[in-house]
Amino acid sequence: MDYLIGIDVGTTSTKALLYDIDGNVIAKANKGYTLYQNVPDMAEEDPDEIFNATISALQEITAKAVDGKVKAISWSAQQHSLIGLDKNFKPLTRTITWADNRAERVAAEYKENGKGFEAYSKTGLPIHPMGPFYKLLWLRRDKPELFDKVAYWVGIKEYIIWKYTGVLKEEVSMAAATGLLNMEKVDWDDSILEEVGVKRSQLPELVEITDKFQGIKSEYAKVIGVDEDVYFVMGATDGALSTFGVGAIETGVLAINVGTSAAVRTFVDKPLVDPKARIYCYPIMNGKYLIGGPINNGGIIFSWAHDALFGAEQEAAKMLKMDSFDMLTEIASKVPVGSNGLIFHPYLGGERAPLWDANARGSFFGLNRNHTRADMIRAVLEGIVYNLYSVTLALKEVTGDPKSILAAGGFVRSKLATQMMADVFENDVIIPESYESGSLAAMFIAKMALGLESDIADIKKYLGKETVYKPNEEAFARYRKLMPIYLRLSRSFGEEYKAIADYQREFND
Ligand code: ADP
Repeated sequence: MDYLIGIDVGTTSTKALLYDIDGNVIAKANKGYTLYQNVPDMAEEDPDEIFNATISALQEITAKAVDGKVKAISWSAQQHSLIGLDKNFKPLTRTITWADNRAERVAAEYKENGKGFEAYSKTGLPIHPMGPFYKLLWLRRDKPELFDKVAYWVGIKEYIIWKYTGVLKEEVSMAAATGLLNMEKVDWDDSILEEVGVKRSQLPELVEITDKFQGIKSEYAKVIGVDEDVYFVMGATDGALSTFGVGAIETGVLAINVGTSAAVRTFVDKPLVDPKARIYCYPIMNGKYLIGGPINNGGIIFSWAHDALFGAEQEAAKMLKMDSFDMLTEIASKVPVGSNGLIFHPYLGGERAPLWDANARGSFFGLNRNHTRADMIRAVLEGIVYNLYSVTLALKEVTGDPKSILAAGGFVRSKLATQMMADVFENDVIIPESYESGSLAAMFIAKMALGLESDIADIKKYLGKETVYKPNEEAFARYRKLMPIYLRLSRSFGEEYKAIADYQREFND
């Protein structure tokens, strides 16, 4: 039996899955690493620690490929990471992740003077410090000595593939997320490169997501337990792959992923620009542009409420041998739709789409003396869903109404939360059975690269059976009354968000 590997280098951990050639999952491994946050707004990782995590994850799963050989390893990874390498490809920086906000001042300046929108119109990268375009501007300005020493600029996926093979390539979807790629030409944009002070020769060779090659170094082949003729398949960003991986292939089919963070995405067939720059647009493959909004405050907010407000229930759940998240959704299900008029804004960690405001903060609005913690937990779940919907509203302005909605991620393990999504969106919400959408799509891209599949739409064969949640009329009638209040509040809080965030920074004791 031949095997394929889909490996996803995420922000908190690397997940590797071993599939047989028919697409069945045979083994999984997950290895975590440290996020360095020594100074405010920093969020870095050690590229070699991540490389070692990929080695252990691969070792663990290849041990299960006993009766055959691994034909290909196909890669998914976090977007927007940036590493500076010297001329011998040795890192001069850690990997600066999407969560690093130190380029905030530059991004704010570019928003103000219009250069940010100009760049967005060419590249599809929203005006935000997450983007390597802004990180490069920041490093060039604040750390010129380091900037001048860097011979090559790469992301974590390019670095890891280079370590294994000595080949430095970058596929289109990851290149697009740097904000250096012209989305019309699907090539590095010369005016953007000039703006950041980087030459083409300092960037990897640009290739398709199905690009494949051999040449793993023999010592690594031995360590991870594969043959030296194993193919490396470039794969794509986690955003692109998890959209393919829920089966949202056609234009107008919306993919909503709610894990720790969240995202609302869809494919369109040409580059589209949002006049308010709330939505990114990245070329992925021939005739497919990924358009969507990245959301900081997904399941992490449910986890916050779980830890901060429901300690006693966690203990009780332990005693009853019950999942404590299920216990909380059970409590929330006893509260009427709309949480008795309590509205929650989930912006605890600032927000990217739809507000693009790092100062945004959370709030409960409408509290009265009858409200209990049960109302609060339901309001938290509803607030997460309202936020997803508000991003979808922005997306709809650019793409039109969605034809259908597919959802995945830890949050949709809850029937209550998924039903809320159907009710708030007033649309069917479809959940595919297979939930490792990123790795599954990486595996499928490997099949395409090897000539075993030819049409990305055929990924649907591997998604298992679907569960459909239908909107409930009584519920959406209530949400229609609350949603406008939610939106008006979040839109009018801008100045106060800044004031309270400034206070929190000043009195951080
Ligand atoms: P990641 O994006 O890190 O891969 P997951 O897709 O596993 O994360 O989702 C993690 C999130 O799922 C958690 O933050 C939590 O809020 C949420 N979650 C976990 N269990 C449940 C559950 N039983 N019901 C609803 N949400 C859940």
